[in-house]
Amino acid sequence: MPLVRYRKVVLLGYRAVGKTSLAHQFVEGKFLDSYDPTVESTYSKMVVVGKDEFHLQLVDTAGQDEYTILPHSFVIGIHGYVLVYSVTSLRSFQVVKTLHNKLYESRGKTRMPVVLVGNKADLSLREVKTDEGRKLAESWGAIFLESSAKESQGTQGIFTKIIEEIDRVDNSYSRE
Ligand code: GDP
Repeated sequence: MPLVRYRKVVLLGYRAVGKTSLAHQFVEGKFLDSYDPTVESTYSKMVVVGKDEFHLQLVDTAGQDEYTILPHSFVIGIHGYVLVYSVTSLRSFQVVKTLHNKLYESRGKTRMPVVLVGNKADLSLREVKTDEGRKLAESWGAIFLESSAKESQGTQGIFTKIIEEIDRVDNSYSRE
């Protein structure tokens, strides 16, 4: 019988960038048009990646900004991060940079599995170019994706990628 592995991932980013919408698309396959600021909710889903089955626990958070102090619960026992900005908001792009720095410091500057997501790619009023997102992710050694929770574009891939990235970072440690 294949082994089911447990992975805990946190969704972080400025408010209203689409964190809850991405989590909903992933878990329920639906888009919600309304905006209801999240306090914090946890979703669970079984995900098959290659031959392996994972129990993914996804923590959807209230939005952060440059001044947020990240709680320990975002560091201890967390396997990976999905950092979300909206391609229509330069501010949200700046916020993910600050969040990444804070996480990196909190985790003792060790490598951490990250997928950077530029959401709302269906909208044409862009403030962040695809290339800027890609370059930022590259500078972190992270994975980059653009998505639209509204059109369900790229949404499943985010969660497969973070699971793969957690394994990749893990394995690169064990080779050292
Ligand atoms: P959160 O605060 O980051 O969790 O953001 P929400 O998921 O609550 O989304 C904020 C608003 O943006 C809501 O009105 C959503 O319907 C809308 N939204 C989320 N994702 C997308 C997207 O990919 N495209 C478009 N056009 N709207 C989106």
